[in-house]
Amino acid sequence: MNHIIKGIIGFCLGLLYPKRCVVCDKVLSKLEKEVGICKKCSKSVKLIGSDYCMKCGVPMRDKSQVYCINCKDGAHVFDQSKAVFRYTGNMKNSMYRFKYANRRNYARCYAKFAVKQYGPWMKAKNIEAIIPVPMYEKKKRKRGYNQAEVFARALSELTRIPTMDKIVRRDVNTTAMKQLNRVKRKKNLLKAFILEENVVQFRKVLIVDDIYTTGTTIDEVAKVLKAGGVDEVYGLCVCIGEMQ
Ligand SMILES: [Zn+2]
Ligand SMILES: [Zn+2]
Repeated sequence: MNHIIKGIIGFCLGLLYPKRCVVCDKVLSKLEKEVGICKKCSKSVKLIGSDYCMKCGVPMRDKSQVYCINCKDGAHVFDQSKAVFRYTGNMKNSMYRFKYANRRNYARCYAKFAVKQYGPWMKAKNIEAIIPVPMYEKKKRKRGYNQAEVFARALSELTRIPTMDKIVRRDVNTTAMKQLNRVKRKKNLLKAFILEENVVQFRKVLIVDDIYTTGTTIDEVAKVLKAGGVDEVYGLCVCIGEMQ
C-alpha cells in the first residue's frame, strides 16, 4: 500500500515539478531524466577533459605544461583542486539558476558527473570528509540555502563520504567577489573563515564550491583547516573558468 501512495505522490510531484535539463532548463523526456541533461545539451556541454592544470584543474591548451600560469609559483594552500564543467555558454545560466533560482535539484546531476570523472581520484586521495565553502549565516537565511552545501550533500549521497558543514564558519559578510581581482579577493576574504570544530580527526578533506575563479576562497578555507591540523586539503568545484 505504502509504495502505491509513494508512487502517486511521485507522479503528482512530477506533474507539478517536472525534471528539467540542468543546462538549458527544458523539461526532460523519460530517457533524458537518467542523465539530467537533454540530448541537445549533452552534445554541447563542456567537461574539463584530460588536459588540465595538475594544481587547480583549469583546462589547458598547452599539453606539455603541468601547471597553468597561476599555479606555477606554487601560490595555493590547497593541495589539488578539480572541476567538472567549463564555466561557459549555457553552464553560466545553469550556475545562476542553481544559485539564485532554487534549482537545488541540479546538484544530483552535477554530483553524478563529478563522481564519474573524479570518483577514483577521491578514492585514491582517501578523502574522509566533504566540507562545503560556508555562506554567511544571514545571507543563507535570506537565500534559503547554500549551493555549495547542496552540492556537497549530493556528493555524499553518491560517495558515502560525510558532509561536515559545521566545521568552518563564514564569520564576515564579504562583498561580492565577481568584480574583484586576485589581490582584492584575497584581502576581501582575509579572516573571513573560522574553525568551529576540532578537525584533527580528519587527515584528508575535500572542500567543495560552485565556481572556481582564482582559488582564493578554497585557499582561505584550506588555511584554517590546515591550521587546525588537517594534513591534506583538496578542492572540487562544479565549474571552472576557461584559461585566459
Ligand atoms: Zn538541455
Ligand atoms: Zn592552475
